[in-house]
Amino acid sequence: MCLKEINKKLEKIAFNKTIPFCYSCYNEAPTGTCKTCHSDDLMRLLPEYGCEYGTDWVIENILEENLETVDITESFEQMIEDCYGETTKVGFLELLTVEVMKDQDPIAWDIAKSEYMDGLEQDNQVITFDNGSNYYWIHDLESFIEDNLEAV
Ligand SMILES: [Zn+2]
Repeated sequence: MCLKEINKKLEKIAFNKTIPFCYSCYNEAPTGTCKTCHSDDLMRLLPEYGCEYGTDWVIENILEENLETVDITESFEQMIEDCYGETTKVGFLELLTVEVMKDQDPIAWDIAKSEYMDGLEQDNQVITFDNGSNYYWIHDLESFIEDNLEAV
């Protein structure tokens, strides 16, 4: 799935999970037109959360509720262990690779971690909807989309 398709499908899920809502009359308007004032300038109502224009906030809400965000630290440390081994021999000591690296050069460690994240984003493995505060795995999103669009 490309990003455009993911966004389109998430928007569709957001529409399915919300009800058109006329804020002036404070009525639900499931047909897309308010029965009272005949307006079609409608908000989306997400039951138990509230109403607002647009679907971006609905998408954020649905993802937060249903998907785990990427644990950047865990994922980066795992990658390092896969590449360089869980332990490293320094002299006669067998030390934890991740701990040694973090201790010896915390700045290089942080730079490598953020480069790793940028790489994942460029390879379309992770996606953020809030400028990098939270990341989701694309494969998680894809299965979430499949589960939720099939059910409709
Ligand atoms: Zn109305």
